[in-house]
Amino acid sequence: MTKADKSDKTIDAVIVGAGFAGIYMLYKLRQQGLEARIIEAGSGVGGTWYWNRYPGARCDIPSMQYSYQFSEDLQQEWEWSEKYATQGEILTYAEHVVQRFGLADGITFNSRVLATHYLGGEERWRVELDSGEEIHARFVVMATGCLSKPNYPNIEGLNEASVPVYHTGNWPHDGVDFTNRRVGVIGTGSSAIQSTPIIAEQAQSLTVFQRTPNYSIPAYNEPLDPGYVAQLKSRYAEYRQENWARGFGADFDDNDQSAFAVSDDERQRAYEERWAKGGLAFLAAYNDLVFDMDANDTAREFFKSKIAARVDDPALAEKLVPSTPIGCKRLCVDTHYYEIYNQAHVSLVDLNETPITRIEGNAIVTGTTRYEIDAIVLATGFDAMTGAVMNIDIRGENGLRLQDKWAAGPKAYLGLATAGFPNLFLVTGPGSPSVLSNMLPSIEQHVEWISDCIEFMNRHQHRSINPDRDAEEAWVEHVNEVAQTSVYPGCNSWYLGANVEGKSRVFMPYLGVPPYVEKCDEVVAAGYEGFTLSSAS
Ligand code: NAP
Repeated sequence: MTKADKSDKTIDAVIVGAGFAGIYMLYKLRQQGLEARIIEAGSGVGGTWYWNRYPGARCDIPSMQYSYQFSEDLQQEWEWSEKYATQGEILTYAEHVVQRFGLADGITFNSRVLATHYLGGEERWRVELDSGEEIHARFVVMATGCLSKPNYPNIEGLNEASVPVYHTGNWPHDGVDFTNRRVGVIGTGSSAIQSTPIIAEQAQSLTVFQRTPNYSIPAYNEPLDPGYVAQLKSRYAEYRQENWARGFGADFDDNDQSAFAVSDDERQRAYEERWAKGGLAFLAAYNDLVFDMDANDTAREFFKSKIAARVDDPALAEKLVPSTPIGCKRLCVDTHYYEIYNQAHVSLVDLNETPITRIEGNAIVTGTTRYEIDAIVLATGFDAMTGAVMNIDIRGENGLRLQDKWAAGPKAYLGLATAGFPNLFLVTGPGSPSVLSNMLPSIEQHVEWISDCIEFMNRHQHRSINPDRDAEEAWVEHVNEVAQTSVYPGCNSWYLGANVEGKSRVFMPYLGVPPYVEKCDEVVAAGYEGFTLSSAS
């Protein structure tokens, strides 16, 4: 046992990360009078919205829904300016919440958690920071975000590139001016689709390197109509409550009809109406679009014609049309994405025809072609859902390493906790709706569940809580069974871990907010069924 193990001082909780999850977790634990501390690698709060400062970054859930609902005063006071808020505005909102609820003194910035080990018998965790400091805490809450560890592609010569290389998920805070520069963007996910139209406005030339095309629908972003805002705020709490009954926990104007319950003409009209409104709500046009391949095909055909109409060159348009089911990779929401390809200085390289072989100084090389550039933008996504957690040396009972336990894929009961790691909670972990839902409400639901659990444990003098392996196995199986009923496993998405070399392929998020919330509530009502609660050892 090291000297630090004998430390008398044990705080109630260490929270890893000061994004929306960490901020609210701190607030809830303080409300109980507990001593909690957030450890944050960045120099400010905001998580995703702190790191992803690439041009064009915005939310793809309407701002009026992409916000906290725990405080009626907060949601009444805060004024979003646009239908989809910019990264800057969301970051300001996060900072405002911290200031409004007096949370700043509970956050240690510029500090990274390297390891956390469970001290069996003491029912507490030792948390090691990169500063050398060690903290002891009864609980550790991983509020590390689902999309926070950037995925750097394994391309020969990338680290030796003679030009600047930027990752959209770790963008310079001062911004990047691409004026008169030849820019190469690798990747065509949401981050590329949001950033390339703005990069194209500045750059001398833009070359987009596409491995797999994505579906995207216009955002039709606009200033928020004060009348709409007033109307929604007049029943904000009620509106939020209604959203819990919706599949994705968000108001997408869900239609509870099959795509085949209507005629072809009527379906086409409905698609046109949804398209004219823009945004992710398209996928709620019919209740079987993400469950039935034939229904999905009707939407695919529609998107194909829309993409073709936005791109002048038919051969190029063909390359921009995905062959995968729509929705199985997250649908993107854009502002003038496809139109960039109608500009003479923008070109697309289809990596299926000519893969990138290496980076050579200032050139991206594919086969025999060298694309000379002045800057490389990696819009290559994230090691999603597990990356940030697995980055930390987490050891539970008997020294069990989480990296070993999850080597063949993550296992977590309800996405909230993992067997063998008592008193360690995950906010929106694998096995919870998380990225298949509106993240903000899902974060709140998890934080409240964890907070209530800690309060329960303290009231009943329980020292530890640990999921049962059987319950965990059954839940992981159920998550997969549900996924198999949908189109989601049908492509190489980050939901499956397929975007990261060597990562095990397991479908990670849980599909269906209402049954999930019901299950969480039932577990609590049954006295934390599927968990073992222990009193003092
Ligand atoms: P992403 O969707 O994973 O896209 C990464 C892109 O990089 C894909 O096109 C991928 O191709 C490509 N790629 C990865 N490695 C590559 C390699 N070695 N060579 C060539 N291409 C490579 O990542 P993202 O765009 O950052 O978005 C991730 C998620 O973050 C989104 O799905 C969304 O949930 C969230 N997000 C949301 C917004 C928003 O609108 N609010 C904006 C950005 C991100 P493959 O498809 O072939 O793997």
